[in-house]
Amino acid sequence: MANLAFRNVAKTFGDQRVLSDINLEIMDGEFTVLVGPSGCGKSTLLRMIAGLETVSHGDIVINGRRVNGLQPKSRNIAMVFQNYALYPHMSVRRNMGFGLRMLGYSRADTDRRITDAARLLGLEALLDRKPGALSGGQRQRVAMGRAIVREPDVFLFDEPLSNLDAQLRTQLRTEIRALQTKLGVTSVYVTHDQVEAMTMADRIVVMRAGRIEQAGSPLELFDAPATRFVAGFIGSPS
Ligand code: ADP
Ligand code: MG
Repeated sequence: MANLAFRNVAKTFGDQRVLSDINLEIMDGEFTVLVGPSGCGKSTLLRMIAGLETVSHGDIVINGRRVNGLQPKSRNIAMVFQNYALYPHMSVRRNMGFGLRMLGYSRADTDRRITDAARLLGLEALLDRKPGALSGGQRQRVAMGRAIVREPDVFLFDEPLSNLDAQLRTQLRTEIRALQTKLGVTSVYVTHDQVEAMTMADRIVVMRAGRIEQAGSPLELFDAPATRFVAGFIGSPS
């Protein structure tokens, strides 16, 4: 469990500024959705939380501790990507446990975590299969299993459903949200899909060109969009 804060964060790549004036507080256990058009800086923001990008200016604070210089592996954060590259030659079990073993977890601890995660995700019967023998939805569940076994303080999702068909997307949206509620893990979920944002979020953060345009509950954004851009993006009638 964790709370997360961005304090005046900015990010530049060379002389290109891609994020400016990012101020954001994310509460313990909250499911926050970052939404905005392609290229507005969503992935970069997420990768900074994970420690995969440096912070050019300002601070990122997790549980009251400034983490700017902290290595990714010291952050206890798990990330689920769009391209959930599973290892094709490894069983589901090994795909889920491999990262833990690399981090030095014992076989017994690893097995216990895999069993727990497989039960949560309905993957018990598939543990000995290879990814090639799974459906797209099952593979995405294994990708989530890999994140869950870390027992992280924070889940980061970067458009995890964008490669799936509409029906599966709807189903997994519900599953991810139910799982997050059950585990109570603070989550930041990136999408460019406003339906996903409106249906999943405790709080939506609308981004545009490297800045936060508005943050609020789905209802707040729908009822009182701060700008025409937010209104257009959320799809309210104004
Ligand atoms: P989004 O996830 O919202 O589509 P990104 O965070 O991926 O946006 O990218 C934001 C901007 O930063 C884009 O203009 C992108 O080209 C640029 N960018 C992202 N990563 C890098 C990088 N490693 N080097 C240079 N520019 C980058
Ligand atoms: Mg992105």
